[in-house]
Amino acid sequence: HLSPRLEAVASFVPSGARLADIGSDHAYLPAHLLLNHKITYAIAGEVAQGPYENAQQEIIRRNLSNYLEARLANGLAAIYEEDKINTVTIAGMGGMLIKDILDAGLINGQHFETMVLQPNTDEYIVREWLTKNNYQITNEVIKREDNHFYEVLLATPGHQSLTEIDLKFGPFLHQDKTEIFIAKWQKELKRIDLIFKNLESAGKKGTTVYQEWQRKYQEI
Ligand code: SAM
Repeated sequence: HLSPRLEAVASFVPSGARLADIGSDHAYLPAHLLLNHKITYAIAGEVAQGPYENAQQEIIRRNLSNYLEARLANGLAAIYEEDKINTVTIAGMGGMLIKDILDAGLINGQHFETMVLQPNTDEYIVREWLTKNNYQITNEVIKREDNHFYEVLLATPGHQSLTEIDLKFGPFLHQDKTEIFIAKWQKELKRIDLIFKNLESAGKKGTTVYQEWQRKYQEI
């Protein structure tokens, strides 16, 4: 069984996709999709030796070596043209790192019909990258695991103009306004409240730093 976070990523993978899961670690996501017959072929890309070996072990354990290949490579370099990969998943890493991986792929002329991205942080940067590089966000979901919130973005080629509010909160997420979405931003308000208190007791009320946090608070 997958965690709610990875389950959400899996749900956005189109049936029959030829998938590359980048930063796959144990390859749980592609293994799950193959075992459930949602896809028929996948690559598990890993940049680090330990996680790469985790993926290899999972492939053997699940008897998936005919359908799932682990590759030791940096980002999208795990994908070769002859693989005919049409779907990429990148989950469980920071938004900056996801952006770097996508940038490197673009330099190599790599384009995909579907991308499912789950940044742990800096979702804004990932959305901005997508809209600047001819992808549109066609769906989003937010999941909670304990006290962590995870946003999952589905992107396909296309044009989309997003407002600052869309980029920060998610065009679908702030429309849907689910309980989990509200909880995420309430948690952030509480965090900023603490920052206000700390700045105030340090005699920094009204400084530009303080005002910047006020702006963020207002936005939420
Ligand atoms: N995708 C899985 C998930 O969501 O549960 C594993 C997430 S794990 C926290 C992040 C993985 O990304 C690590 O195994 C790390 O080695 C890998 N990683 C980091 N940078 C990478 C890169 N440039 N290319 C491929 N893998 C990378």
